[in-house]
Amino acid sequence: MDFQAEDAINWFSKMTNKVVINKQYLTALDTQIGDGDHGDNIAKGFTAVSKLLHHAKKEDITTTAQVFRRSAMVLLMTVSGASGILYATAFLRMASVFEKKNRIDHSAFTEAISEAVEGIKERGNVEYGEKTLLDVWIDLVELFQSSEEFPQASLIEQSARRAMNKTKTSIAMKGKAALYEEHSLGHIDPGAASTYYFFASLAEVCEEKQNGRIC
Ligand SMILES: [Mg+2]
Repeated sequence: MDFQAEDAINWFSKMTNKVVINKQYLTALDTQIGDGDHGDNIAKGFTAVSKLLHHAKKEDITTTAQVFRRSAMVLLMTVSGASGILYATAFLRMASVFEKKNRIDHSAFTEAISEAVEGIKERGNVEYGEKTLLDVWIDLVELFQSSEEFPQASLIEQSARRAMNKTKTSIAMKGKAALYEEHSLGHIDPGAASTYYFFASLAEVCEEKQNGRIC
């Protein structure tokens, strides 16, 4: 089975639930090494995304590419700060890969998240290990690249969790967190935490499919 528009909608709906439930936690992380708005921003953005996708048919959103492209536009309109731009950039890059594919199998999906990484690197001028959401994306891309098919749901969740926790051990090099220099050590990056919820949501979508795999 391939990855389909309904899987993407389910994915974003799970993401919305997680960031709404954990809004205060995300904001608390951002209060420690930032300006304390990440929970509010990301919850507001994904709530708006879910509202749009709830009316997907009426809104003429029928393909996976459209789910990603239209959600990116909503995030750009509703989320202030760098995280909205970076999530939107990732989604737009994924959409442009999906638009070229007749079916989204493991290889197409891996290509899409690899493109998302390139987009985040360019747009955020950020590299691996700088304590940002990119760290989680890159570890996930490596997991997908090292596998011949969609990784097991539990592996996706664990890999994202490990990447998020690893941001505790690095010094922030980008954004407001960088002002904290070595004081940023020991803190999880808030963008990495919301990105963990994003991939944990994907893992749940996989869990619901046959054998815990999308395809
Ligand atoms: Mg912030």
